[in-house]
Amino acid sequence: MAVDLSSLRPLLSPGARIDENVTTTLPLRLSEYKAPQPGGIVHPATEKDVQTTVQWAIAYSVPFLVQNGGNGWATTFKLNHQGILIQLDQMRAIAFNVAGTEVTVSGGALVSDVVTAASARGSLVTTGTCNCVGQLGAILGGGFNNLVGQYGLGIDNLLALNVVTPDGLAITIKKPKTASAPSDLWWAMRGAGPNFGVVTSAVMKAYPVGNVARLSAWTGPLVFRPDQLEAVISALRNLSLTPLMAVAVTIINAPQPSIFATLFYHGSADAGRAAFKVLFDIKPVSDFTAVTPYTDWNAGSDTACIKGGRRPTWAVGLASLDPLTWRKTYTVWAELSQQPGAERSSILLNVLPLDKVRSVPDAASAYPFRNTVKFFASLTASYSDPAFDATAVSYGQKARAIWQATDGLAQHSTYINNAFGDENLKTIYGDSLPRLRLLKQKIDPHRRFNEWFPLS
Ligand SMILES: Cc1cc2nc3c(=O)[nH]c(=O)nc-3n(C[C@H](O)[C@H](O)[C@H](O)COP(=O)(O)OP(=O)(O)OC[C@H]3O[C@@H](n4cnc5c(N)ncnc54)[C@H](O)[C@@H]3O)c2cc1C
Repeated sequence: MAVDLSSLRPLLSPGARIDENVTTTLPLRLSEYKAPQPGGIVHPATEKDVQTTVQWAIAYSVPFLVQNGGNGWATTFKLNHQGILIQLDQMRAIAFNVAGTEVTVSGGALVSDVVTAASARGSLVTTGTCNCVGQLGAILGGGFNNLVGQYGLGIDNLLALNVVTPDGLAITIKKPKTASAPSDLWWAMRGAGPNFGVVTSAVMKAYPVGNVARLSAWTGPLVFRPDQLEAVISALRNLSLTPLMAVAVTIINAPQPSIFATLFYHGSADAGRAAFKVLFDIKPVSDFTAVTPYTDWNAGSDTACIKGGRRPTWAVGLASLDPLTWRKTYTVWAELSQQPGAERSSILLNVLPLDKVRSVPDAASAYPFRNTVKFFASLTASYSDPAFDATAVSYGQKARAIWQATDGLAQHSTYINNAFGDENLKTIYGDSLPRLRLLKQKIDPHRRFNEWFPLS
């Protein structure tokens, strides 16, 4: 029997909504593969509603899980019909201070909400690079973005977090005055946040643009043929990225196999073309780059945001790029994407300038791979028939093993937000694992937040 929420309803504000008897697959998620299957969904309207819901769940021993953008593809979700989803979709407010130097982001805001508000205010804010992604869902794991070279990771831009703790308390934690001694919870939330509480809102740094031209960037894809893969990978391996640059390479059928290198340069077209000359030298078959307003920077990835179907994903961090390895993973992808129903499967490679990220000490946050990982790669199997799951897993694991064989790292790694769920926990949490485990015992001894690559 699904969970009985009748005693919760009177405790919530009038704006809160409850969906009971949720029996079908959750419609709000990017991937249905191993998705949570709640018995009920609570849509809080206020931060107090979140706290009340957590306290109610604790009192009635009802398992719960928070959902922001619904894009997490982890296979570690356990929530079933005995539990509830706390869906933050009614909490999407964004508010800037008068100077435009700080922004308060509600727990359910999406990247698109933040970008729209930031553009209207004339400030830049670190977000993910896809509009549908939950702003805090992305940032609590680290938060990579096109502005990472200038402003660092999303977690490095946090100033305060309002958190409902595993005890049901509502607390505010703030960035400490000195970086050397972050409190336990401040350290843990930034890199492993979903294991330690619900963030109902966060205060982040914002960067007012003095010059309106800075609300534009030169961005868009160059398209290459599959036989140009080695040249593209070699060029990216040797490319020295300035803080104004970022690259995302997607390999996908469009409709024939194609390599899309989406370039980002926070400046003019001429400067961008000069900065990425090595890629133009390879002679792309198409060039869709253009000077683009801030509100449209993420538009090119909107198709990656379409909800539904199955999208298990296997991801790795890499210290180097090996063209031969990429030819091998390309072959795995090509076989996978020739299978009927799996034609939209894809490979993604992110190449980012990381000096700013590395200027922050490792000990400042739980995010573990500042000084080792240089590139982020993943393979997504995209299909809809559950009968294809086992085949998809075999392709995904194969591609991951090929990448890992030449990852150039002493310890395999994956960005937590891209992890699958079968990895060794050290691969996800790196050297932060022992401290995180101790903190888990202390902060969440009853393991109420235990669905996102659990620390036990
Ligand atoms: C199309 C696409 C593009 C992406 N682009 C980027 C990118 O540019 N940069 C990047 O860093 N990552 C990116 N990612 C990865 C992304 O960071 C993760 O998928 C992230 O987990 C998604 O967060 P969500 O809120 O959308 O998903 P959800 O599934 O809702 O949340 C993911 C996890 O975070 C927890 N969580 C969410 N909100 C809160 C909260 N307020 N308090 C506590 N816990 C919370 C959830 O409980 C869940 O465990 C992308 C993913 C996709 C699918």
